[in-house]
Amino acid sequence: MIDTHAHLTSLDNADEAIQRAAEVGVARILTVGTNVEDCRRALALTEKHVGVFAILGIHPHDAGTATADDLAALRELLGHPKAVAVGETGLDWFRDYAPRDDQRRLFAAQLDLAAELGKPVVIHTRAADDDTLAVLADHAGTVVLHCFSSPHMLPTALERGWYVSFAGNATFPKAVDLRLAATQVPAERLLAETDSPYLAPQPVRGKPNEPANVVHTLASLAQARGEEPAELEAQIERNAAACFGL
Ligand SMILES: [Zn+2]
Repeated sequence: MIDTHAHLTSLDNADEAIQRAAEVGVARILTVGTNVEDCRRALALTEKHVGVFAILGIHPHDAGTATADDLAALRELLGHPKAVAVGETGLDWFRDYAPRDDQRRLFAAQLDLAAELGKPVVIHTRAADDDTLAVLADHAGTVVLHCFSSPHMLPTALERGWYVSFAGNATFPKAVDLRLAATQVPAERLLAETDSPYLAPQPVRGKPNEPANVVHTLASLAQARGEEPAELEAQIERNAAACFGL
């Protein structure tokens, strides 16, 4: 199995979490760096663990302080052989930690970077779905909607052939709409993630999340779709390999 989105650098002990994941069959983890320093830490983990790959970007929360030098450093880090995607990037009008114009500029710059490098882009969007879709309208590359939580974005996502990645919140009892959305995504566009240490899935809800817990999200998706968990796990492995070039 694979966890396509975790923040290993935000865990208390990443090495032990990677080990626990391996013990339940989660052999590959994509860890996400959210600023230049965090991206360097993410890459260090990829050098230490054969099954760990990196998604590198500057998070919308950090848009207010990101400089041109940061973008130049990010471009260089993305040249690392285990850097598989740009992100997470996008717009967050919910927390509003950074000025909206700065978020828009940084999002556009990272989309350009993804296009230039021919890498997929991993999208964070919160309370900004229509604006996010507007910015993505002209982006022709591979797109992953991370922690999918906006069913009304689904028609556009499916039409554009984007990958849709479900996290632990899709397992919550009230998330009927997310599980319904999961049944509407073609098998070859489906991904699963933990977003560790956030959003632990239902059986371990409220605890710090870790990559091993992607098994719960996979089980919930398989149940919603009426598929065998093992089949869905294999399908998602193939999807992740195709999307991220693993
Ligand atoms: Zn994330």
